Amino acid sequence: MNASSEKYDVVVIGGGPGGSTLASLVSMQGHRVLLLEKQRFPRHQIGESLLPSTVHGICRLLGVTKQLDDAGFMRKRGGTFLWGRCAEPWTFAFSERADSPTGYAYQVERSKFDKILLDNAAALGVEVREESAVTDVLLENGRVAGVKYCASNGGCRQASATFVVDASGHQSTFYRFAGKRIQSKVFQNVAAYAYFRDGKRLPEPNAGNILCVAFPDGWFWYIPLSRSLTSVGVVVAKENAGAIRNLWDEKGHSFVDKCPLIRDFLGDASRITEGPYGVVRVRKDYSYCNTAFYRDGLILVGDAACFVDPVLSSGVHLATYSGLLAARSINTALEGHLREDVCLDEFEYRYRREFGNFYQFLTAFYDMHKDEQSYYWEARKVLGSEEGSQAAFIKLVAGLSPDDENVFPSGPGQQVSHGLGEWFGKLQSAEKCGRGPSSCRTDVKGFDFDTFLPGISSEMTQVQLQALMGHERGGEHPLRRSGLVPSADGFHWSTPVAFQRNK
Ligand SMILES: Cc1cc2nc3c(=O)[nH]c(=O)nc-3n(C[C@H](O)[C@H](O)[C@H](O)COP(=O)(O)OP(=O)(O)OC[C@H]3O[C@@H](n4cnc5c(N)ncnc54)[C@H](O)[C@@H]3O)c2cc1C
Repeated sequence: MNASSEKYDVVVIGGGPGGSTLASLVSMQGHRVLLLEKQRFPRHQIGESLLPSTVHGICRLLGVTKQLDDAGFMRKRGGTFLWGRCAEPWTFAFSERADSPTGYAYQVERSKFDKILLDNAAALGVEVREESAVTDVLLENGRVAGVKYCASNGGCRQASATFVVDASGHQSTFYRFAGKRIQSKVFQNVAAYAYFRDGKRLPEPNAGNILCVAFPDGWFWYIPLSRSLTSVGVVVAKENAGAIRNLWDEKGHSFVDKCPLIRDFLGDASRITEGPYGVVRVRKDYSYCNTAFYRDGLILVGDAACFVDPVLSSGVHLATYSGLLAARSINTALEGHLREDVCLDEFEYRYRREFGNFYQFLTAFYDMHKDEQSYYWEARKVLGSEEGSQAAFIKLVAGLSPDDENVFPSGPGQQVSHGLGEWFGKLQSAEKCGRGPSSCRTDVKGFDFDTFLPGISSEMTQVQLQALMGHERGGEHPLRRSGLVPSADGFHWSTPVAFQRNK
């Protein structure tokens, strides 16, 4: 290590939601954190539809509740889907009670949301340097011990740290120091998206909902970002990558024309053609999982570690939740309460578990859409596919080794089994829909979409409890034998016994 390099407890690569969450939660414990972000904020990013646990859990812990309120983001009460066997759209709400204080999330312009989190990190003591791109990590006796970074004006420097956190998103090149990035074989999709003025809105109280519409070539998202601004994206097979860029050009309305509901919603709308929202953007190769989420001195959070398909709006939740998990591990290890590898095993176990829950639900959700005539939908049936039968990717998602084979009775629905196998089965056995939207919901036998989010992730509830009740919340059980639990303050790990004693 260069003798003149700067020294920190933690260097974070990337100032997206994962990086700024982690940096803030470590800095709040008094540790010295440097965050390096290659762009200058506000910058554009996709991932605009949030979940309640991010808004009422992580963002409350970070102390940005008022800034989010003041920003005037659109309130999202749930999701509306034209998906499955139903001919009509159906809706789920985060809460049945319209006045529930935590029964909503936000649709955000990520340029504004991410800047709120990054500015807040700086206010909490994180040294934030924008336009500073990390170009390499520095190794010392096999441990990642720092980074090399270059400012946009050309000057390059080094910074050393006890921990380097890779939060550089899907563009990460540093994940390879921890393991291999394995692409999903089933979710080989490509997405194109653009922004529109004056698109239609769903009737109240669902005007702020995300609308997801399946059609023979894939599916559309339609996210109302304000009264007049809408983010519209289409997800299709990667074989369509060439055609997709023409999506909204004069000649190429093909995908919109094939999807009557979206065509109707965009009937009086015009595509924005200037400024940051004025280009059609394309994203591909975004469904993957790394073989390891950490190695000595290096931790991957958010998209740097894994991401699969945006239909459940899980990306920012997973990025910020993994930021919290990694922050607990770093705080505990830096303060010498528990061994570093034990803390980081807990981080990786919990992050894979959460990701696995979403992955499992996602596969069920894709399998649920019936369109035997469509190449797109048949090619994405996980059951019977290479991914489903060999289950290698699913095991990777869940962090299971071949030795864990005997925990799988049969089928991927049970493989990442954290209590969702039953729901998966119900989705698979969904019968024909009834006549209207409400019967569409109830005819998916015994499956209650209104409770699916808390069901996917009990961790979301725990994070919200930590944010709302702090020390007053009840003790948590470990998620596995000899696992750790969050400390009473929620910012460290404890052994289950220590937690009870210290309460
Ligand atoms: C098509 C699509 C639609 C999506 N829709 C949704 C949605 O509706 N809701 C949702 O929650 N999620 C959605 N997502 C996922 C969401 O975009 C991501 O999960 C989320 O942004 C991950 O946050 P992050 O902090 O890990 O990374 P990012 O938000 O990608 O932030 C990483 C940061 O690191 C910086 N960086 C990169 N390299 C370097 C470097 N070398 N040095 C310094 N800085 C660097 C980048 O500039 C960037 O600011 C979607 C994803 C896709 C592909």
